[in-house]
Amino acid sequence: MTPTGLACFDFDWSLIDTDSDRFVIEYLSPVLRHKLDTSPMQWTDLQNECLKEYHEQGGSGEMIRESLTKIPLDSKMIQACQLLHSKGWVLAIVSDANQVYIEGILEHYGIRNLFSAIITNPAFWDTQDRLHIQRLILADGTPHGCTTGVCSLNICKGQEIDKLLLQLGSDNKAGETFGSSGKEAKVLPRMLYVGDGRNDYCPALRMKSAQDIYFVRKGRSLEKYLQTTDALGIREAIRARIVFWDKAGEILSELQSAL
Ligand SMILES: [Mg+2]
Ligand SMILES: [Zn+2]
Repeated sequence: MTPTGLACFDFDWSLIDTDSDRFVIEYLSPVLRHKLDTSPMQWTDLQNECLKEYHEQGGSGEMIRESLTKIPLDSKMIQACQLLHSKGWVLAIVSDANQVYIEGILEHYGIRNLFSAIITNPAFWDTQDRLHIQRLILADGTPHGCTTGVCSLNICKGQEIDKLLLQLGSDNKAGETFGSSGKEAKVLPRMLYVGDGRNDYCPALRMKSAQDIYFVRKGRSLEKYLQTTDALGIREAIRARIVFWDKAGEILSELQSAL
């Protein structure tokens, strides 16, 4: 069956109302919190390093799991996800957080089942109950090569969405191809994207129609990036309708009238 559309969510400060990496570390230890703010290490590696130190100092996995249940997620955002799901949209998360945090938080709120895909940094618990986090693209892996200049080393969210679109196409009946890399993309689903950071710009370039909606959170780095006024044509390159939002309720009401 053809999905109504593809709804992609960034996680930190988009689906949830905090930065999960930072929230967990601050919950665990003020010393590690300081490390987060001062270390020059690549962000994902730094999370892994902090969790390693936490474990070495006798910190429990239970505390980490407990911290995930304290993460704020607006009930209106849950309703927005439920609405999209009920209307036949495929929901996906594309995030620079990690699998364990995202799964744990979605399960805590009882909405894991709404999401068909979670694309993020891999994470796992070892037999000592230590949490490990890895980069989606390893330091010695093939770089994504994205030229937008907004994507972090370990993930190009736009390319990840390209893969998702291809997968949707291959699940679909013959003759219907999603995505722009197919020879003739016959059916392109509607798309929407919810984001707040500069690295949420690249995905917006995958949305091809004014029917698509790009939800940009107010007051954060993506909004500022879109306001860049030099000759780069940053905002002009976006064909989707841009909706600036602050509270999840604004996304919900927008969807209630637009779907
Ligand atoms: Mg974010
Ligand atoms: Zn990119």
